[in-house]
Amino acid sequence: MTNTNTPNAAPPPDPCDYSRGTWQCRGNGQLWDADSDGYDPDDNSEPCPGCNTLEYLQYAKEEAETTIDLSGIYGTSTGEDIWVTAVMIARKANPAGIAAALTVIGPVDTLVPDDSAQDGFRVVRHNEQDLAPGSASV
Ligand SMILES: [Zn+2]
Repeated sequence: MTNTNTPNAAPPPDPCDYSRGTWQCRGNGQLWDADSDGYDPDDNSEPCPGCNTLEYLQYAKEEAETTIDLSGIYGTSTGEDIWVTAVMIARKANPAGIAAALTVIGPVDTLVPDDSAQDGFRVVRHNEQDLAPGSASV
C-alpha cells in the first residue's frame, strides 16, 4: 500500500531490500523469517519498516500504548522501549520517509512501569506534533 497523498513520503527503495537478522522484506511491505519454512501470503502481521513505514509504526504505537513491560528473548522492554526502538529501526530503514510517517501517526502515549503509581505504570508521551510541517528533525 503506497500513500501517494503524503507530500513528504519518499518512494521506497525498489526493490525493497530490507532485512534484520533472518527477517527479510517480501517485497510487498511485509516481512518474513527466512529461517522458517516459508510464509503465509495472507499473513500481514509483520509490516516492513523500510517500504511500509507507516503501518510498521502504527503497529509499534499500538504495542507501546498497550504494553507496560514485556519479557522476551531480548530482555524486558517497556512500552516506551518498544516505541523508541521501532522509531530507531524505521529511521534507519527509511530515512527519507520517517518524518511523514510520524506526522501521520501523531502523539504516542507509551507506558512505563512505575511502582509508585496507582496502576503500576505511567504514560510517557512521544512524537508530540510541535514541529513545523516538513521538519525532518523529529
Ligand atoms: Zn520492505
